[in-house]
Amino acid sequence: SAENAHAAPLLIKSLLLSGVRYESSREIVYRDQLRYSYTTFVERIARLANVLTQMGVKAGDTVAVMDWDSHRYLECMFAVPMLGAVLHTINVRLSPQQILYTMNHAEDRFVLVNSEFAELYAGLADELTTVERTLLLADAGQEAVELVDSVGEYEALLASAAPHYAFAEFDENSVATTFYTTGTTGNPKGVYFTHRQLVLHTLAMASVVGSVDSVRLCGTDDVYMPITPMFHVHAWGMPYVATMLGLKQVYPGRYDPEVLVELWERESVTFSHCVPTIVQMILGAKAAQGKDFKGWKLIIGGSALPRALYDAALAQGIQLTAAYGMSETCPLISAAMLNEQLQAASEDEQITYRIKAGIPVPMVEAALMDADGQFLVHDGKQQGELVLRAPWLTQNYLREPEKGEELWAHGWMHTGDVATICTMGFIEIRDRIKDVIKTGGEWVSSLELEDLISRHPAVREAAVVGVPDPQWGERPFVMVTLHPGQQFDARAIKEHLKPFVEQGLLSKWAVPTQVAVVTEIPKTSVGKLDKKRIRVEIEQLQAD
Ligand code: ADP
Repeated sequence: SAENAHAAPLLIKSLLLSGVRYESSREIVYRDQLRYSYTTFVERIARLANVLTQMGVKAGDTVAVMDWDSHRYLECMFAVPMLGAVLHTINVRLSPQQILYTMNHAEDRFVLVNSEFAELYAGLADELTTVERTLLLADAGQEAVELVDSVGEYEALLASAAPHYAFAEFDENSVATTFYTTGTTGNPKGVYFTHRQLVLHTLAMASVVGSVDSVRLCGTDDVYMPITPMFHVHAWGMPYVATMLGLKQVYPGRYDPEVLVELWERESVTFSHCVPTIVQMILGAKAAQGKDFKGWKLIIGGSALPRALYDAALAQGIQLTAAYGMSETCPLISAAMLNEQLQAASEDEQITYRIKAGIPVPMVEAALMDADGQFLVHDGKQQGELVLRAPWLTQNYLREPEKGEELWAHGWMHTGDVATICTMGFIEIRDRIKDVIKTGGEWVSSLELEDLISRHPAVREAAVVGVPDPQWGERPFVMVTLHPGQQFDARAIKEHLKPFVEQGLLSKWAVPTQVAVVTEIPKTSVGKLDKKRIRVEIEQLQAD
């Protein structure tokens, strides 16, 4: 082998420096609190590195953050890994017990805590086994709070630190970030990514957002605002992409739909990403009523994108594009990129592709595997577990190598999702393996039913789970929320699904006969349908 001693390692440091080179005066904005240029941004990262070093942070240490989406979070995404330390992005929406578990499991030594979470932190402090020091994150004008073991407040410490730091070079295979799956069953599992993985992921994602027709982003006046929390798979890695490209970036704090709409307008946001329920939330905001969001491009991932939501967003000027990934995959795997041939197709046909999970991005290989490890054909019909290879998939679960064996069986990463892949390479996620409804020997996709049912004009959101049935093994059970003043029942479902059954798109066994209209469908900490809690609620409904 010809190891090249002169080749610069793939380090996060290098992502920072290109953006400022192109657009030194472009802004990073934090709500109505703060705005500064890329030149200042680079200085602030050096200041933060000095503060962290004074605090005692060394290469290999884990530094955790408990914050909503902020400029501080962005600064930590650079400064912490650039010191050779590991950034643990704490999911602040987990239960306190789960937060405690993840902090001890990740062996956090330093924690940056938003004053909103100071009380929560105080409640955990006695049981934290590895934390040495904390640092307070406070918004201007926020009431002063006490934080256990704090070395001071972020902005004050940055202001008095030197704006230069000589960042060392080190092995690109050093771990840069770690975080936990949302743990809908059992304890959350930790995943981790190296500098090399994050740099390659950033380059691949930049190539996609710059090329997908509907999310063309490399136009230099695009403005980026995340609406996938920074604690969740580092906001899908987009802050690294936006920084590398030198885009204006807007950080919205805690997601309040009214604030999001206000920031979109005031800062001229053009590019965001989120899970489908956030789109629902935005469209439902008071400030969004009657508003034309023309020019706002949203990448949708984390759950299937229902056709009805695509149409509703488009009616208000928002262009949605589906993508697929998971915590274990850093996350980007595929995006709904339409080639020339598809762009020439009818609008309706184009949309059927824009809402699928998409085509693998550069450097990703996707395949379908059966339970025996045999590959299946990509004909758009054969269903199997989606398995992956790519340079940026998690190597294992943190400190749980035995779980990694299953994840990496047969040398491919197992997603736990059932999918088809068509001859054009489009992945369609049919369901999570554990959510597939097995009724009378047939497999029914809960995602497909949710998509079809949510197209009914009365329905706002739909969730479908399998419930035990003495005759059929399982039967689909529907939980819906409705638009104001609407009614809905099993007969409405039957009527609505009839054309799909008649066209052979849906088996008649799949038509649900049980439905519950609720005011709210349970969601996970990142806003996805929480199938576990939905099952529990349905059990209760059935028991009543
Ligand atoms: P969790 O597993 O805790 O929800 P992840 O964010 O890792 O956390 O979720 C990844 C899962 O989300 C995937 O395995 C898949 O089931 C689902 N998912 C992500 N993107 C899509 C998509 N475009 N279509 C359908 N399902 C998706």
